[in-house]
Amino acid sequence: MSDVQASTARSQQLFEEAQELLPGGVDSPVRAFKAVGGTPRFIARGKGSHVWDVDGHRFIDYLASWGPLIAGHAHPGVVAAIQEAAANGTSFGATTEAELELARLVKAAFPSIDLVRFVSSGTEATMTALRLARAYSRREMILKFDGGYHGHADGLLVRAGSGPLTLGAPDSPGVPSARTLSLPYNDVSAVRAAFEAHPEQIAAVIVEPVAGNMGVIPPEQGFLAHLRSMTREHGALLIFDEVITGFRVSPGGAQALYRVTPDLTCLGKIVGGGLPVGAYGGRREIMQLIAPLGPVYQAGTLSGNPLAMAAGIATLRLLNEPGVYDHLESLSARLGDGLAASARATGVPYTINRVGSMFTGFFCSGAITDYATAKRADTQRYAAFFNAMLERGVYLAPSQFEAGFVSLAHTDAYIDATIDAGRAAFEAISA
Ligand code: PMP
Repeated sequence: MSDVQASTARSQQLFEEAQELLPGGVDSPVRAFKAVGGTPRFIARGKGSHVWDVDGHRFIDYLASWGPLIAGHAHPGVVAAIQEAAANGTSFGATTEAELELARLVKAAFPSIDLVRFVSSGTEATMTALRLARAYSRREMILKFDGGYHGHADGLLVRAGSGPLTLGAPDSPGVPSARTLSLPYNDVSAVRAAFEAHPEQIAAVIVEPVAGNMGVIPPEQGFLAHLRSMTREHGALLIFDEVITGFRVSPGGAQALYRVTPDLTCLGKIVGGGLPVGAYGGRREIMQLIAPLGPVYQAGTLSGNPLAMAAGIATLRLLNEPGVYDHLESLSARLGDGLAASARATGVPYTINRVGSMFTGFFCSGAITDYATAKRADTQRYAAFFNAMLERGVYLAPSQFEAGFVSLAHTDAYIDATIDAGRAAFEAISA
């Protein structure tokens, strides 16, 4: 067993102070460890596949800042790119060449994108994609899926996954939800029925092409293709929210992996290499409605920020090296198979869903295909497992309803150490 983690005194003290300063002691809800209990660890630094907390404990990290860090923490090439950019000025509010370079890399990876606009978060990307879809179609309703999370814009916090699901409030108060339909993921007939019930009213279907925010749930065979044909048939736009899956499940995201072409794509996380970047893009005839080309307004003081562009460019260049995705797949398969075998050996009901380097181990048996089946997972058992892993030096997402991420900095040895910790943790929680 690697370093069993004992004292959390410094994290505890900081978390108490944090609660006097920040709502719940955090700037983003799931960080507060509410669903898993215990003291949220304050992180002092990260390097490669590891993070260190302020009490000096080291963890093999599978949170990866919730997805962006596909190259690992503080990758030397990414750090150097940020430093070089910073030395030349941190923000201008005018266009720089770096934006063109990142745009070229995005377009090369996503042939469905003619024009791309960089913003500062995934939320900004999805929020604007909806505005654009409504303007383009002159319709108001949006169709999403239960347990899908697309950021915190009004209208998307309806039966939302991620933090809202984790905290037991999937419908946020303060949100006008009348124009949002939410349907079961992977349910083609529910989508067909919704289009029939609301003729010429649905502006767009927004979907995580691999769901990642109710835990990882892959699209069933034909689901995405059906969404493509039904949206086309009914004059609605198809928006792929690839904030997690973009550059993660393949160089060209889920749309390349499943060969379904959306009208608009939202990106975030990896495209910013660990700095705040989101992006939306798609067909020219739609994107040209955005100001200043067209009347649909969206802007940002720090949009296309030079540091963020530099981190994104450095990260995407690393991903263009040959063999990168095969390597990620083999590390991730090793991890998924190892954890599943450990769970079987200890008799703990556990189902791993994995697409490439994104995975979730659900504490229940049987297929997990949508929000209803994901909710069958035993969240108390997840909490016990999470804490048992933390004690053994492995940092997972502090909620059952999130993805874990393998990075290029994870090695076979770290994966094996994680599997060993997993075996001990499964044993500890089955006792
Ligand atoms: N879409 C998806 C699929 C996400 O997973 C997230 C964040 N986890 C968002 C949108 C929102 O991104 P951000 O947190 O950068 O606003």
